[in-house]
Amino acid sequence: MGCCRLCPHECGVNRLEGETGVCGLDAKGYCFREMVNLTEESELVPSHQVYFAGCNLKCGFCSVAEWNDQPMVVPTIETGDLVRQIQLRREQGAKNLNLLGGEPAVSIYGILELLERIPQKTRIVWNSSMYYRQPVRDALEGLVDVYLADFKCGNSDCAKKMLGASDYVEVVQENLLWAVQQTELIIRHVAMPGHIDCCGRPVLEWIAEQMPDAKVSLKFDYIPPLPAGMCPAGYIQDSEKRKMLEIVKQLALKVIL
Ligand code: SF4
Ligand SMILES: [Zn+2]
Repeated sequence: MGCCRLCPHECGVNRLEGETGVCGLDAKGYCFREMVNLTEESELVPSHQVYFAGCNLKCGFCSVAEWNDQPMVVPTIETGDLVRQIQLRREQGAKNLNLLGGEPAVSIYGILELLERIPQKTRIVWNSSMYYRQPVRDALEGLVDVYLADFKCGNSDCAKKMLGASDYVEVVQENLLWAVQQTELIIRHVAMPGHIDCCGRPVLEWIAEQMPDAKVSLKFDYIPPLPAGMCPAGYIQDSEKRKMLEIVKQLALKVIL
């Protein structure tokens, strides 16, 4: 954190002294929302989601962009209150603590401080875009129970246009290959209109080739942003859904709901 190279941006800023890089964060974690979610993958619900502000990708379709653009000025939940809330959510029946953002990797320091204060048997779900480097992998080793990994784009052109990171695919693949050796892994892909052949198909083919036993969560709930910019401007079509389902069938992937 004193010379931050947690992710491929390698900003080299001193976050301990308040300097900020692409993710816009100093060393602390800024939790802007916590809630129990019933719509995650069925084996994970009810899931206690804890959202951290700040991200190292610039996805044009981000649904929480208002908390990521200036992550340190959002109203946040203090760590002590969050610890109590995590305990309460467990008592209410939450099966796990689901860490997400933004991108949780850029808040790893604050997340480690939080995890130190919660009961050790809490099941941890790492809900991430998987765009980070070795120091984050090292920090997560042995801490995470389930990697819930978003694999968004299947080639560098689409990743550059829609996520702002041309190296996204290789970075995610490297982190998935590591995660699958560690513990449970669910790879989530949100099918995007007009991106079945360039993104959906290559993502699924790579999974089938590299980790055919991984669980795949295929989503059709893409919401077009306004303005759409470089992202698809419409909703997924029935013909595109059928095509994706046909691909997972051909590849014999383990699709979960
Ligand atoms: S985590 Fe943030 S400051 Fe660190 S390298 Fe990535 S974008 Fe830059
Ligand atoms: Zn594409």
